Amino acid sequence: MINAVTDVPPQLAPGFWIADSHPGAPRPPLLGSRRADVAVVGGGFTGLWTAYHLLRIEPSTKVVVLESQRVGFGASGRNGSWCVPELNAGPALLAKRFGASRVAELHSAMRATVDEIGRFCSEQGVGGFEKAGVLLVARGSGQLPALEDTQLEWERVGLSSPYQRISAAEAEGKLAVHQLEGALYSPEGASVHPGKLVKGLATAVERMGGEIYEGSTVTGIKEGRPPSARTELGEVTADLVVLALEAYLTGFPGWHRAILPVYSLIELTEPLTEAQLASVNWRSRMCVSSMRLTVDYLALTPDRRILVGGRGAPYRYGSTLSPDLERHRATHEGLRAMFREWFPALAGVRFTHSWGGVLGMPRDWIPQARLDRGRGLGVAYGYTGHGVATTHLLGRAMAEMITGQDSERTQLPLVGHESPLWEPEPLRWMAVRYVQRQLSGLDSRVARGGRPPSGRTIAERLAAH
Ligand SMILES: Cc1cc2nc3c(=O)[nH]c(=O)nc-3n(C[C@H](O)[C@H](O)[C@H](O)COP(=O)(O)OP(=O)(O)OC[C@H]3O[C@@H](n4cnc5c(N)ncnc54)[C@H](O)[C@@H]3O)c2cc1C
Repeated sequence: MINAVTDVPPQLAPGFWIADSHPGAPRPPLLGSRRADVAVVGGGFTGLWTAYHLLRIEPSTKVVVLESQRVGFGASGRNGSWCVPELNAGPALLAKRFGASRVAELHSAMRATVDEIGRFCSEQGVGGFEKAGVLLVARGSGQLPALEDTQLEWERVGLSSPYQRISAAEAEGKLAVHQLEGALYSPEGASVHPGKLVKGLATAVERMGGEIYEGSTVTGIKEGRPPSARTELGEVTADLVVLALEAYLTGFPGWHRAILPVYSLIELTEPLTEAQLASVNWRSRMCVSSMRLTVDYLALTPDRRILVGGRGAPYRYGSTLSPDLERHRATHEGLRAMFREWFPALAGVRFTHSWGGVLGMPRDWIPQARLDRGRGLGVAYGYTGHGVATTHLLGRAMAEMITGQDSERTQLPLVGHESPLWEPEPLRWMAVRYVQRQLSGLDSRVARGGRPPSGRTIAERLAAH
């Protein structure tokens, strides 16, 4: 079966991280026919970690990575830099699906994953990894119930939360956020430089003998034994093909309803002086977020710029990937306004970069990796906004499955999991746009001092499953 695949326009730059990590000239595209043990489609974190771990476990494996644009062109080179031991699905949802003891296993595997990424960075000389923790703040009293709930969610399933409740005064000492009413802090999260991590990973894969072809859009997959992946100029026949495409998976017929593309947008300031950072007490590269329902995230880059990210670009009918959504004006303006509200002391700071990217959301919010030897196909996807660490976990699990290794990772409930499909259109469009509008309305109401969200509205229940 040959599948047509939508292409990604090459003219859009992926943003600051890739430019800052000096990717150099593009690698040449695949030309002609190749035979490999494993062909990986997609040169983001999932594809590159899969290739890296395959070569680490069995150095003689012939691995070919096919990337449509440049490595890191997708979400992996554009993200908010949070490398945290959390999945998008919270402990309550995971416990409901898999049982509380499995949630403890997952959390422990994710904690180890963050440290392994740190180890990789230090061994390979990849700069930008700093484990400074995560600060969740309630901005305004209307966000306090959500903060409490985040903490209690762990206790309700019998686990101790990685977050400690800290007072507003203590939190101010970590970060002086306007209208801060309370906070949770966890020491477990880290920040990376996504561009340097992608570049370091690609370099390591090539040093270990893997081949990476850029500008090589896969236009068709032939499943079976052996499977093959075809580009306009060449073809790889392999024992297994691994799809590592996250949101772009929606362009493969047959996979269209497996994932919902969601755009996340970022604004970046100029580098701040020591005095400017001291004025808001920002001393380390801590990850920061509020309890807004529509998601916001902040981070500090290694060169001391503040990154502010959030969602807001509307879902497009038919899960259409549309680069203009990366530039959704109202969302970018909202992010700048948000920065000014959070940090009135930094009112004069300029913004120098803005970009956006697309992440993938599975119907039940649970990321997954599967290998089907009969179809000759492996697939790992569904991280939503929490893929920086999880891609390592699932890329490694994929490599272990392929090489027949049993490990604590291959036993995790994410391995073999298959989410239900998203609803067909127009139902999907109607439901997603409804949830987007309602959550945004609830956030505005809380920001105006209104009642906190009850958690019981249709939109909140749909969003939380
Ligand atoms: C703006 C933004 C902020 C985010 N912030 C965070 C964060 O702070 N922390 C966090 O944990 N997660 C974050 N995420 C999510 C995280 O970045 C992703 O979950 C993760 O990078 C997914 O990696 P991936 O390799 O699976 O997919 P991608 O990085 O999207 O890689 C897929 C690759 O496939 C390529 N491709 C597409 N079609 C084809 C084809 N036909 N043939 C060949 N190649 C193809 C694409 O060019 C792309 O490079 C964020 C995402 C975005 C967009």
